[in-house]
Amino acid sequence: MAGNNRAVVIGGGLGGLSAAIHLAIAGHRVTLVEQNDTLGGKANHRQWEGYQFDTGPSLVTMPFVLRELFQKAGRRLEDYLDLMPVKPACRYYFADGVCFDAPGSVEGMREAIAQTFPGEEAGFDRFMAYGKRLWEVSGPAFLFNPMEASTLFKINPFKGLAGLAALKPETLQASLKRFFKDPHLLQLFSRYATYNGSDPARCPATFNVIAYVEMAFGSWHIRGGIYRLVLALAKLADELGVEIRTDSPVEAVDFSSDGKAVTGVALSRGMTLPVRRVVINADAVTALCGPLMARHPKAARWRETWAPREVSGSGYVLLLAVGKRFPELLCHNIFFCENYEREFREIFGDARPLGDPTVYISVPCKIDDTQAPAGGEAWFVLVNAPSLDRFSGWPADYPGFLVKRLQALVPGFSHADVQWSTPFGPPFLRDNYAAWQGSIYGPASNSTKAAFFRVRNRGPVKGLSFAGGSAHPGGGIPLVLTSGRLAAQ
Ligand SMILES: Cc1cc2nc3c(=O)[nH]c(=O)nc-3n(C[C@H](O)[C@H](O)[C@H](O)COP(=O)(O)OP(=O)(O)OC[C@H]3O[C@@H](n4cnc5c(N)ncnc54)[C@H](O)[C@@H]3O)c2cc1C
Repeated sequence: MAGNNRAVVIGGGLGGLSAAIHLAIAGHRVTLVEQNDTLGGKANHRQWEGYQFDTGPSLVTMPFVLRELFQKAGRRLEDYLDLMPVKPACRYYFADGVCFDAPGSVEGMREAIAQTFPGEEAGFDRFMAYGKRLWEVSGPAFLFNPMEASTLFKINPFKGLAGLAALKPETLQASLKRFFKDPHLLQLFSRYATYNGSDPARCPATFNVIAYVEMAFGSWHIRGGIYRLVLALAKLADELGVEIRTDSPVEAVDFSSDGKAVTGVALSRGMTLPVRRVVINADAVTALCGPLMARHPKAARWRETWAPREVSGSGYVLLLAVGKRFPELLCHNIFFCENYEREFREIFGDARPLGDPTVYISVPCKIDDTQAPAGGEAWFVLVNAPSLDRFSGWPADYPGFLVKRLQALVPGFSHADVQWSTPFGPPFLRDNYAAWQGSIYGPASNSTKAAFFRVRNRGPVKGLSFAGGSAHPGGGIPLVLTSGRLAAQ
């Protein structure tokens, strides 16, 4: 017989850990089951001879979401994690040779724009005012509450009206032209669409809120690596009595014969956990289309609904232990491609491994000396990539191609500097974390109504809910932590 206050969380990603913590705070007896032998899901880590690599997130935004989570449990974030500001936030190299450091604050950015792109600062002021209005309505309406009608009543009517005026049904790319003329700034601010795997030419202008949030609330690193967040959440969950079982794949969720309620969770080693409350942190679309939900009478219908939906983009990563220091690099660096439109065509249209990708290099040892041995640097190199439904035949020499690109982009870097390297791309994300079509951010947000097309936190069956990047409110650290809270509620 399932205990009334027992709950099972399937998946130990950030959303699953958050859901487990919130359920435990609410008095449930929680078991979290993770198929891999480590927690964290896409937010994972590797190391090689003193070189430390976060394999997923390299940037923390909206730090107040992390702080609130610890506060809810009666703890202080500072007792678990050392958050460090990343300033400058990012160094941008443009294909025509222009180099621009984004300082990491609204005021700093205004000054930097005035210096490098004179005449554009007035547009930036309007852009920030518009971003603030977006934030004031999209925060309560879309991000921090369930995607349900009752949520609309939580919006401050005055801010809401101003915000709704900002919510024009236009694309992010089109909206940017109302604020900026300089092609560098248009490219720089278009890039925020990729924070959730979107196409700037199709995703809604509301995603401009991401640029605002990053500048208003800062870019952050965690001393010791972002994986420390996973360890801290696991520690907190343990302190709250959550039972964590790694190396425990779940085969399926069991339902009552009429399909109206959850009755248990079947582990793949023949054991069943009887339970009436289940949070699925495994990718929601993979769950709805695959074995996890297959025992429900409506499984075929869910598969028909979710399998054809457009998927967000993915990423291809190269971890490099480099035996040299590179003064031209900051903690975060972007080397923009020449033709951004072609880049997004190659992700979403005529899909292929990108021929001239925009290259992101995160070098956390620039601000955190725990991340690499003296005289070396641990590089996390990320380029955009199409999801597996669009392209799956990754050539074996793609890592070699990326190293050649790095030789062309990073002054002084040569293949001979590489001491150790390992690549992974969309197939790895699918095979190791059950990411639907190997995408990082689940269903695509490439339409103006995108927010309404994510999997809702409240599942279609009593006792079932979804937490994680494919569910509301979306991917990225603060949003999946929020998703865990909403799923637990
Ligand atoms: C390369 C890369 C770079 C990124 N950069 C950033 C960044 O800079 N900033 C940022 O905020 N975000 C970033 N992200 C996104 C962020 O990592 C994700 O949005 C977030 O970690 C996803 O968390 P999640 O809760 O959805 O769980 P996931 O990470 O998807 O984890 C789900 C877990 O469920 C487990 N699971 C699946 N099926 C089963 C089963 N049947 N039984 C048991 N367990 C199961 C999986 O093994 C996995 O551990 C990045 C992601 C990647 C991949």
